[in-house]
Amino acid sequence: MPYREPIELADGAVTTRLDAPQVDVPEGLVDALRADLGAGAVVTDEAGILPYGRDWWPLAVVWATQGKVPSLPAAVVRVTAPEQVVTVVRRCAEARIPLTVSAGRSGVCGGALPVAGGIVLDVTGLDAILDIDDTSLLVRAQAGIFGDVFEARLREAGYTLGHWPQSIELSTLGGWIACRSAGQYSTRYGKIEDMVVALEAVTGAGDVLRTGGTPRAAVGPDLTQLVLGSEGTLAVVTEATLRIHPLPSGEARTVFGFATFADGLDACRRILRRGATPAVLRLYDVFESQRHFSKIIGETDDNVLIVLDEGDPDLVDATMAVVRAECADAAPLDEAVAGHWLERRNDVSALPEVVKAGVVVDTVEIVARWGALPAVYEDAVAALMAVDGALVASAHCSHSYLDGACLYFTFAGQPGDDPAVKDAYYRASLAAKMDAALRHGAAISHHHGVGMARGAWVRQALGDTGFATLCGLKSVLDPAGILNPGKLGLPSPFLPEGWAWT
Ligand SMILES: Cc1cc2nc3c(=O)[nH]c(=O)nc-3n(C[C@H](O)[C@H](O)[C@H](O)COP(=O)(O)OP(=O)(O)OC[C@H]3O[C@@H](n4cnc5c(N)ncnc54)[C@H](O)[C@@H]3O)c2cc1C
Repeated sequence: MPYREPIELADGAVTTRLDAPQVDVPEGLVDALRADLGAGAVVTDEAGILPYGRDWWPLAVVWATQGKVPSLPAAVVRVTAPEQVVTVVRRCAEARIPLTVSAGRSGVCGGALPVAGGIVLDVTGLDAILDIDDTSLLVRAQAGIFGDVFEARLREAGYTLGHWPQSIELSTLGGWIACRSAGQYSTRYGKIEDMVVALEAVTGAGDVLRTGGTPRAAVGPDLTQLVLGSEGTLAVVTEATLRIHPLPSGEARTVFGFATFADGLDACRRILRRGATPAVLRLYDVFESQRHFSKIIGETDDNVLIVLDEGDPDLVDATMAVVRAECADAAPLDEAVAGHWLERRNDVSALPEVVKAGVVVDTVEIVARWGALPAVYEDAVAALMAVDGALVASAHCSHSYLDGACLYFTFAGQPGDDPAVKDAYYRASLAAKMDAALRHGAAISHHHGVGMARGAWVRQALGDTGFATLCGLKSVLDPAGILNPGKLGLPSPFLPEGWAWT
């Protein structure tokens, strides 16, 4: 599905909200790109560039109700072949023009926003499945393919990728790779970085980088993992080879209620510790259990755990036996809860009305070791509720591993109608969440990435040497610094030192 906007822009003249120097694109470059790619591939008119001025970053959703977009490109270039990516990157590098890769624009951290203007590269025309290798269970596909189209075509051929982000209809393969995405069935199938075995990408210098290709290798550091999570700042991903699975022949579901969130977390830990990997293992705190499931189970004090597995029936049976044993002290709940979750799991249709009612809302996912999680939960909820204007702070455990898990927090506030006060509430809430994560040794993102929104916390998260290493990689792969300015907390030749959206 092509870009779907999170909310309509308020009527009237549109203004840009971010405060950053803007780079224009010289007429000569527009003409040259039109000559290279065809006249229709380069868009400069206002209606054509406007949709590229925003993504699903929640503060920009609020700004849309005020008739503002974060930033606008001077031109949008649409590519349909990898060689065209090389052409565009080389021209931009030579002319020193910022180039921001844009795909589904479902990112929630402002990653695809053209902060410094320049050119937006729309890669959604790279949408082919190139090859399926049944013997080794691999698929090779172009990066701009949308998730729902990709999975549907694989299913027609008898396979599944097993990657089910809530945004599957809104996001692309390249966006998943760029942000280290996680799907709802990740405990069985892994995150995107567990699925990708090879990549083709175009560096900021316009060179084609091919990585990986075998199940494992010991030929230096893993260059595939270097590109994964680079959020369009090091290279433009043009294609990827990923592990696939035969369509599952078995499925089972079960639901439990725990007296405390910490008890539920410990059950998840024990399930993983015994080697069971049920595809879905989602534990909701009491607030979220009420919000999502009270229609089925009535008012509840339970922390609801939904477990769903699929695959070979023997493995599914064994997995569910471990789950039942480890949840023996919890209350068994109506299995219909799992069906209800499955049906409604991707429904975000309430968002526009909530925002129009004056609510500022965001979701922030962090990941930490098991031992730290109960304290991260308590501390982060308390810190979020202490922000002026806060209405709600809640969480669920969405992805579990042998050594820890991802907690997915939702915060919402109604700080008043003044746009500056709304911005201040958002800023303070995000900072409260990031600081709470760092206090407990958690990572500041598990699968949304850093984008623009969380850039200010990257140096602290990686440490000085880690951050300097990332900057060094950037200068090697993108020597002119054209790719995606203002993201991942990286310095940019187009922005003042220390620039941040705040
Ligand atoms: C309702 C909703 C639910 C969501 N649920 C999930 C979820 O369950 N799991 C999850 O992981 N995420 C989720 N997200 C976040 C978002 O969908 C992911 O971050 C997704 O990976 C972004 O993909 P995209 O194609 O929309 O990328 P975009 O938003 O267009 O871009 C995101 C970043 O990736 C870069 N990029 C995109 N394509 C390429 C490429 N080919 N080469 C290099 N860089 C590139 C961009 O420059 C940008 O920095 C959700 C978002 C929404 C709105």
